[in-house]
Amino acid sequence: MERTLVILKPDAVQRGLIGQITTRLEQRGLKLAGMKFIQIDHDLAAQHYAVHKGKPFYEGLIKYITSSPVVVQVWEGKRVIETVRRTCGATNPIDADLGTIRADFAVEIGRNLIHASDGAETAAYEIPLYFKEEDLVTWSRVTDQWIME
Ligand code: UDP
Ligand code: MG
Repeated sequence: MERTLVILKPDAVQRGLIGQITTRLEQRGLKLAGMKFIQIDHDLAAQHYAVHKGKPFYEGLIKYITSSPVVVQVWEGKRVIETVRRTCGATNPIDADLGTIRADFAVEIGRNLIHASDGAETAAYEIPLYFKEEDLVTWSRVTDQWIME
């Protein structure tokens, strides 16, 4: 079982897209393990995006992610990291395939609505920035057998 971190970024919250974006993940059959509504401060943003420090878009990215509240979620399942990334679409919404969240709701890379961990190591780094292990819920769902063999 894998876990991945998702952030519905400030633009998703401000535009009233929390429900519609979360629905995209739910309707694929992915299972939620944790969720909270928070405002990311500068320190947390710097930890989260440490890998991008020094890049031309870094300062703008930190300003963006700390500018307004976000919804942070953990989703759990087999190959969930890749599944969520593909549901989000390419980083630049212009390049994202139609039917993905970024293509269907966004137009610019700097306002691309959603973050998702890009690999197992990244997920293992990112999830504890937001959730303690005991905050995450492992639960069985009556529909599981109709979603996974
Ligand atoms: N970003 C940006 N301009 C760029 C590249 C990235 O504003 O040229 C922002 C964008 O919000 C992106 C985030 O920085 O989602 C992190 O970039 P990354 O390459 O990790 O993309 P992601 O993993 O979010 O698809
Ligand atoms: Mg990334």
